Amino acid sequence: MTEKAAKTIRRPRTEMPVQPPLVRIQNYLEVALGYSEEDALTEASRCLQCKKPSCRQGCPVEIDIKGFIGQLQKGDVPGAYKVLREYNSLPSVCGRVCPQENQCEGMCVMGKNPEKTGGPVAIGRLERFVADTFAKRLAGGDAACQQITGEAACRMTRDDLTVACVGAGPSSLTVAGYLASLGIKVTVFEALHEVGGVLIYGIPEFRLPKDIVRREVDAMRELGVEFRTNWVGGKSFTVKELMEEQGFKAVFLGVGAGLPQFMHIPGENDIGVFSANEYLTRANLGRAYDFPNHDTPTFKAEEVCVVGGGNVAMDAARTALRLGAKKVSIVYRRTKAEMPARAEELEHAIEEGVKLELLSAPIALNADEGRRLVGMTAQQMKLGEPDASGRRRPEPIEGATREIPCQLVIIAVGTRPNPILLEATQGLALTKRGYIEANPETGETSIHNVFAGGDIVTGAATVISAMGAGRRAAKEIAKRLLGTEL
Ligand code: FAD
Ligand code: SF4
Repeated sequence: MTEKAAKTIRRPRTEMPVQPPLVRIQNYLEVALGYSEEDALTEASRCLQCKKPSCRQGCPVEIDIKGFIGQLQKGDVPGAYKVLREYNSLPSVCGRVCPQENQCEGMCVMGKNPEKTGGPVAIGRLERFVADTFAKRLAGGDAACQQITGEAACRMTRDDLTVACVGAGPSSLTVAGYLASLGIKVTVFEALHEVGGVLIYGIPEFRLPKDIVRREVDAMRELGVEFRTNWVGGKSFTVKELMEEQGFKAVFLGVGAGLPQFMHIPGENDIGVFSANEYLTRANLGRAYDFPNHDTPTFKAEEVCVVGGGNVAMDAARTALRLGAKKVSIVYRRTKAEMPARAEELEHAIEEGVKLELLSAPIALNADEGRRLVGMTAQQMKLGEPDASGRRRPEPIEGATREIPCQLVIIAVGTRPNPILLEATQGLALTKRGYIEANPETGETSIHNVFAGGDIVTGAATVISAMGAGRRAAKEIAKRLLGTEL
């Protein structure tokens, strides 16, 4: 039997150790604990090192997956990290939050016949292992890790080549990391008081510890990226001022799409109704989970309903459990199969006791005389023909409604672009839905040398797609500024 054939004989994916559900809902610490070195080497050994690795085609930033796993197979963590960092400025983040099942792992050849092979290589978990282990070793003074970091930082920053990024989410961070590594001076302007976008204010600590995001941001500071917080594009400055008065040669707009959408049903203004955006921002950025040690309070209730079926809904539901709710239900108008959340988040939410109220659409939120929420009226739905997204359209079953008692409703049914910057930027072409129109290859907008990418162009999507857009724009900016094909 060839070595390759031997490798494809069923060896199950190495499980990720996690905190037990009943323990983790009592704390706000990370749920998934990460691979040990032994786990990582066992999992890496499942990779076939394919001649034409299909996994890479599934990665929006085109990480050389085969390359980094190959280094890991040799036990060379610094070498594996070096390969990763060439493509990805936020490997610890992506290893934790990317929907790998739809991307690299979804394309891995080992996933084609899982009965025989044990399933796709756990690429995300390996990425996390490499990035975390590298950071630990670097902090411990490991010479090989220091050399790699030193090589990245040794390029001189050219102060005559300056680029501004507006917004400090994953799209802008990717632009900043890529350009800084080429010696271009980048300044990032962020409206909030912390850098990281949704990674800081949206995704909870128990899924993505904030120290991990800060660590990645600090690595960019060391490359010379300057971060200016509490600067609101469109209010504190305009794009025109950045270019004409402050002399930035190019501007990247990565302001996300953080304006919450509501359902426009009766009762949405009553006490106890929150957008997921506000609820999660209080919990994460304001650290309401640690009140009163931090001074942002949150709204607590015994029975909570979260409306929606994506990652945002899962995060809100699991946060509510950790903040003391006795019963948390996800109310979703389709079935479990159509839920857009990452498979692992849905699985973890169910393990933790989150209930699913499927084929249910809220039609009214009901309050007492003091306008405090007491429950929700939900319309029973059935699935009809597929809609434009390819998912089967939910249709109401006439006369079938029911009451769900709850004192807190968190609405996670999507977001829209915030108009502040867009309205203040003359000549910026927008789509019919109010997002920025950008060239899909280069990210350039209708204004010369002004680029855009991430959720503000695509609508709410994923961290890695925002990073992919950032990378494309950064390549184009570098080409124009440095005059070289990269
Ligand atoms: P953002 O991350 O939204 O960052 C935009 C930044 O711009 C923000 O910091 C904002 O404050 C700032 N800003 C806005 N307007 C201005 C202005 N006028 N001036 C200056 N700054 C401004 N994706 C995944 O892949 N996996 C997940 O598990 C996942 N979970 C999620 C959970 C939640 C709760 C949410 C909300 C989203 C989740 N996503 C997930 C989606 C993902 O986080 C986004 O697609 C991604 O962050 C988009 O990146 P971005 O750079 O476009 O914008
Ligand atoms: Fe092949 Fe999967 Fe390894 Fe990629 S991760 S090289 S597709 S086995």
